[in-house]
Amino acid sequence: MSRRRIEAQCGVAFEMAAGDQLRVIDPCGEQVADFIAFSRADRREWLSSGRTLDYNNTIYLTTGHTLFSNRSQPLLTITGDTVGRHDFLYTPCSPEMFRALYHVTGHHPSCFENLATNLRPFGIEPDQIPTTFNIFMNVEIAGDGQLRILPPRSRAGDFIELRAEIDLIVGLTACSAELSNNQRLKPIDYVITPSSSA
Ligand SMILES: [Zn+2]
Repeated sequence: MSRRRIEAQCGVAFEMAAGDQLRVIDPCGEQVADFIAFSRADRREWLSSGRTLDYNNTIYLTTGHTLFSNRSQPLLTITGDTVGRHDFLYTPCSPEMFRALYHVTGHHPSCFENLATNLRPFGIEPDQIPTTFNIFMNVEIAGDGQLRILPPRSRAGDFIELRAEIDLIVGLTACSAELSNNQRLKPIDYVITPSSSA
């Protein structure tokens, strides 16, 4: 597949077959991409932050780590990563979050809305969307447990690569939150390489 673009503050959903590789590229630098996956065979099985942190014993996931489902099944393996800093603690930014934390009164685009809209045709309801794997999101944890969101460490052209271990439905966004993206909202690119051509 050729390189595709998710425009700023937008999202997509698509299917991956077992063995397919997904490369998520930051074309401009300092841009987060929220990622979520569901089993194509049973949408009640989804990518779980809790299980993934359980089995990897780290919150800093990178090349060689496996991402697990709520049923403790491997869903994806990270096969390449030029950044080495991503977040799996925060939920996708949402309309409620923009109202509560940033006092936005009108409509503000959000990863949650973009994921919900794009995953609905695949039979996934908004309430099924869990904590997302926030690619390139840079969260620092202080000794007392305080979290701080810093600009992503990704520069233009940096990427992460994920291999599907089972057939999946995937949601992916160019994050809409100003704070997570150093105040500049930019696109995200991605490429899917089928297992047959890998
Ligand atoms: Zn977001």
